[in-house]
Amino acid sequence: MWAGAATIRICKVFWKRESGRFPAVVRSLSRVVAKLDGYIHIKAMNKRSEPSIFEVLSTKMVTPNMRRVTIGGQGLATFPHGQDGGYVKLMLPGQSTANKPLVRTYTIRRQSADALDIDFALHGDEGSGGPAVSWAQEANPGEEIRVGGPGPAKPLSPDADWYFVLGDMTALPAIAVNLATLPDDAIGDVLIEVQTQDDKQDLQRPEGVALHWLINPEPGLKPELFEQAARAIPWRQGRVYAWSATEFEVMRRMRSYLRGERGLGADQLYISSYWKQGLVEDQHRVVKRADAEQSRA
Ligand SMILES: Cc1cc2nc3c(=O)[nH]c(=O)nc-3n(C[C@H](O)[C@H](O)[C@H](O)COP(=O)(O)OP(=O)(O)OC[C@H]3O[C@@H](n4cnc5c(N)ncnc54)[C@H](O)[C@@H]3O)c2cc1C
Repeated sequence: MWAGAATIRICKVFWKRESGRFPAVVRSLSRVVAKLDGYIHIKAMNKRSEPSIFEVLSTKMVTPNMRRVTIGGQGLATFPHGQDGGYVKLMLPGQSTANKPLVRTYTIRRQSADALDIDFALHGDEGSGGPAVSWAQEANPGEEIRVGGPGPAKPLSPDADWYFVLGDMTALPAIAVNLATLPDDAIGDVLIEVQTQDDKQDLQRPEGVALHWLINPEPGLKPELFEQAARAIPWRQGRVYAWSATEFEVMRRMRSYLRGERGLGADQLYISSYWKQGLVEDQHRVVKRADAEQSRA
């Protein structure tokens, strides 16, 4: 993934400097490299069958509704480097259904030499709406957790004149990683839904990338608020790359806007739902797969 992205960025800088243009042949070549790169990554992932055992190192509140759990220990010895923005499968300790571990998906907010930071958006009454959130609330240093993955990050394509990035608190970790990798001259708009004013974060990004915050104390309810806010952001000139990760109903609305009305194809759009109001993760995954097949048909 990263080799493909790096290739296209290098090509872009080179061609802009040489001729002020970015020819289609370079764009196609870069896409082939990116696809090959993704394929190699998936092959490598398939080989990693056994989850690794990590240890909770520390916990802290990032904002009132975002809790960071930092994990490390022996699991990192076999964990690949540079996975910021990728995702892991957390096998929640002591929780299983039908003899299968209870698994939840989370983004690697930051990877250092000896730790992974995972940021949990707190939801539900008193912030304990699901087993993952309860675990994050109660985890103590020294506790073990089995971790599967990593799965690949979904970076922003460098092949764009501007960026349109959308997400809620579950996507904030991935968005933070992606914005930090943009070149200094990148421009764009980022819309992030958070539960309270105090949940806004100071995100590292180029000066030309504007942050728009939407406050919704009840995530998952009133999906129309997010849609209205996204549509209210003026559409810029030039080739856009749009990235969107939200609740399922919000995703459907954004897909209709970005793919249906704005006509963005797969090369200009990453769109995903990270959860669905009223469903636990396993149920959401089933609905998401069926919806993706239907929308492709
Ligand atoms: C690739 C990927 C990366 C992700 N990265 C992150 C991340 O870094 N940080 C993060 O916080 N989440 C992330 N998520 C989302 C997270 O996996 C889900 O929110 C998950 O359902 C939470 O598990 P749970 O045990 O707390 O709740 P579940 O047991 O899955 O659900 C219990 C109830 O809570 C509701 N619910 C679940 N999530 C939320 C929410 N965010 N707000 C309101 N209600 C909710 C459900 O609809 C359900 O009714 C990611 C998801 C994906 C697919």
